Amino acid sequence: MRGALGGPRVLLRRLREVMAEPVSAQERLDKVVVLIAANMVAEVCSVYVLRVDGTLELYATEGLKREAVHQTVLRQDEGLVGLVASEAQPVNLSEAQTHPAFSYRPETGEEIYHSFLGVPILRAGNTLGVLVVQNRARRTYSEEEEEALQTTAMVLAEMIASGELLSIAKPGAEPAIRPRLHLTGQALSDGIALGHVVLHEPRVTVKDVIADDVPKELKRLDEAIATLRADLDLMLERGEVADGGEHRDVLDAYRMFAHDKGWLRRLREAVMTGLTAEAGVERVQSDNRARMLRVTDPYLRDRLHDLDDLGNRLMRQLMGQDHAPPREQLPDSAILVARSMGPAALLDYDRRKLRGLILEEGGPNSHVAIVARALGIAAVGEIENISGLVDPGDAVIVDGATGDIHIRPPSDIESAYSERVKLRARRQAQYRALRDKPCVTKDGESIALMINAGLLVDLPHLSETGAGGIGLFRTELQFMIATEMPRISEQLALYRAVLDSAGDRPVTFRTLDIGGDKVLPYMRAEVEENPALGWRAIRLGLDRPGLMRSQIRALLQAAASRELKVMFPMVATVAEFDEAKGMIERELTSLRRRRHKLPDRVEVGVMVEVPSLLFQLDELMPKVDFLSVGSNDLAQFLYASDRGNRRVADRFDPISAPMLRALKMIAEKARAAGKPVALCGELASKPIGALALVGLGYRALSLTPSALGPVKAMLLELDAKKAEAAVVPLLETASPSPNIRERLESFAASEGLPL
Ligand code: PEP
Ligand code: MG
Repeated sequence: MRGALGGPRVLLRRLREVMAEPVSAQERLDKVVVLIAANMVAEVCSVYVLRVDGTLELYATEGLKREAVHQTVLRQDEGLVGLVASEAQPVNLSEAQTHPAFSYRPETGEEIYHSFLGVPILRAGNTLGVLVVQNRARRTYSEEEEEALQTTAMVLAEMIASGELLSIAKPGAEPAIRPRLHLTGQALSDGIALGHVVLHEPRVTVKDVIADDVPKELKRLDEAIATLRADLDLMLERGEVADGGEHRDVLDAYRMFAHDKGWLRRLREAVMTGLTAEAGVERVQSDNRARMLRVTDPYLRDRLHDLDDLGNRLMRQLMGQDHAPPREQLPDSAILVARSMGPAALLDYDRRKLRGLILEEGGPNSHVAIVARALGIAAVGEIENISGLVDPGDAVIVDGATGDIHIRPPSDIESAYSERVKLRARRQAQYRALRDKPCVTKDGESIALMINAGLLVDLPHLSETGAGGIGLFRTELQFMIATEMPRISEQLALYRAVLDSAGDRPVTFRTLDIGGDKVLPYMRAEVEENPALGWRAIRLGLDRPGLMRSQIRALLQAAASRELKVMFPMVATVAEFDEAKGMIERELTSLRRRRHKLPDRVEVGVMVEVPSLLFQLDELMPKVDFLSVGSNDLAQFLYASDRGNRRVADRFDPISAPMLRALKMIAEKARAAGKPVALCGELASKPIGALALVGLGYRALSLTPSALGPVKAMLLELDAKKAEAAVVPLLETASPSPNIRERLESFAASEGLPL
């Protein structure tokens, strides 16, 4: 390193001596800044520490006025120091005073220094403070000097994280080692959970930062990399999927990075500055994480995440740690925290102890979100750097309804949430009391309430909710959470288990609805411009009949001597329905020929979710045994508004004239044709939606299991005729009401309906 006396290795060795001295925290810090200033040939070296109130306090300085220590406090966005902290990256300037972010604090006597180099003090991606060197001369600090200062900052990070500075901190303005945080992400699964953090992939924290023997550390690094590469090769060779459902693409990316010369060079350089091998890996990872925060391109971000994962693997390799979390030691009320996670990994945890889930990634349609909903675990996704922000055992609250999370919450927030949990529990008890009551409106209309399901873990909901059956069994979920294509025997076993546990209650199976956003990790998907409008569901089933035929066979065999109800998703034309139904008939004939036991009755239905079907209902009715409206997709296609895109998903209200008119037409035509019709989209899972649907003539609804109680409580108080009188005129007038939802809400209020 040019300009530095003895280079970073010497500095690190000296720092280690200082760290071991039996002196007070302040004395230690004072010695540290003197050492760094001397080593870097800087006139100033200062340490600013980030406090719990979000400000940066000057904790030690060599060169600035000593009176400023513990007096100068900057906002996190104030001055160049604030810039380093908020951007979590170095700022290197030969003339600091002309920089727009420069802010002058007279008590420091800073005005005589022109060049400035500040680096963030980072630990596991969190900024703990800022380390600064300054010189009078207008000089440019070299890249090596910048690197060396970052390495030195790691030692300070360990010192701050150890809690040593708490002894010299002002009460209420302690270092923000473990700050309270309130963050908002994407609500994935409803529910409120209070509990303690369990890291899905335990973070490796490096304790020994400074190397005793650099060549030895380099050798350790090389060996760990070689083992890492060999492990990856083996996994790829065996076609094995790694933890968390990582699939081949990810492993391929890992292997590519594991051989990336730039990455390897940076690792070796970090170790050569005098760090231990693991501290070197962490050092390079810090840079990578800082980059990750700045990159907005989703593909690049994914790759940087892959690189971060690879760094974690390497670190575990170096520290001899297995990456399997100790599942048997799960505390009661565990809140699982992960960057990303496969559905199978979630199912591996003890359900009884798991309360909540927080993910760095994961949209509402991610497989893990689907499983969390099925398990009734409150979940929130898209919380940036969550695994870096928490420590195992931290208290945390997950609000799966709003997407809020509170880390280390203050006691008033905690008690407010505890109250809400109690309130919910009381409501659940009230709903449970309604379980065995027939669902009949005040004016005597029976409404069939069923549940949506798709996994074995959903089946207990049938008896818990007292539902009349399963109105939508999403068969693709078994495929989505598997790591390889489920064999026909596995499909058969699932369908049989479903029918067994449903007993006399009807189950409507939907054939595979894959493609679009429902990707199977083991099936190479074509990249499509518009996957929601692409090669999916019945389209894929008809073009690749092998898969659908074997599914139909499994369904027919599972329902031997019982009734089977099957429906097809995403049907856009009558011809598609004919073709699909023809496949069922052919399979029936083939099974009959081979003397298999057949179902007593097979009913074949259609999902109404593509708007083109609205204009083919007359031709369709005579051919189908029943209809089920998929209001999620129907609304998506009717309004041309991607249901998974947060920017537009809530832009159009399904409780509005165009959608309700379409729904009314379907109900009327079905009634005229004498065909049963149900609605199985999310609309039915909200009391206000169910109210509108009953008003439009729907008498069968299939809901998310947790919605059954609230919807039933509302229906028991409802007069169906009055609901019809409330909703239909809003659609029939020449100028339909622009605010149907509000009108229905006031109707509900005047009727005293619980919404
Ligand atoms: C729907 O589209 O409304 C539906 C029930 O199907 P899915 O949500 O599985 O697409
Ligand atoms: Mg659908």
